[in-house]
Amino acid sequence: MPGASRDHLGGWPNRLYIPAVLEPTDAAFMREALRQAEKAFAAEEVPVGCVVVRAGKVIARAQNQVELLKDATAHAEMLAITQAEAAVGDWRLADCDLYVTKEPCPMCAGALVHARIRRLIFGCSDDRGGAAGSMINLLQMPTLNHRCEVTSGVLRDECASLIQSFFRARRAPKS
Ligand SMILES: [Zn+2]
Repeated sequence: MPGASRDHLGGWPNRLYIPAVLEPTDAAFMREALRQAEKAFAAEEVPVGCVVVRAGKVIARAQNQVELLKDATAHAEMLAITQAEAAVGDWRLADCDLYVTKEPCPMCAGALVHARIRRLIFGCSDDRGGAAGSMINLLQMPTLNHRCEVTSGVLRDECASLIQSFFRARRAPKS
């Protein structure tokens, strides 16, 4: 309206301008992975959580269950990949992205490559054992037939502090 002052809009509640559906972002999906990690923490498992996303939807969620299943391969990523394969009905997850709170180990990084995950997004790095660039980068090996895009450091501090408080509690003398 020509010449109209914006003052008459002043009374409109601001919430009208907030979109009803927020854009899915890396941080939002990492929050989902963190919720899985918190469940692992509560179950006295090393708190790592994971979700797999396809076309903007979570199709698999898992937490580390090594102690519960008495299985050294029951890392969050391995369980989430198996779930995602079942959901898709194929072992090829080429249009799926995997979010995990900690940098994958060599076993999980290998599984990500085998499953052809499009993109890996992780929270905190694992300086000693990480296979997405810290110790080794298995996700982008020129000689393998698949390479993942990698994004690191999403909610890094929250992901790291959960793991640190887990190990701090474990080291504390039991009273
Ligand atoms: Zn692993």
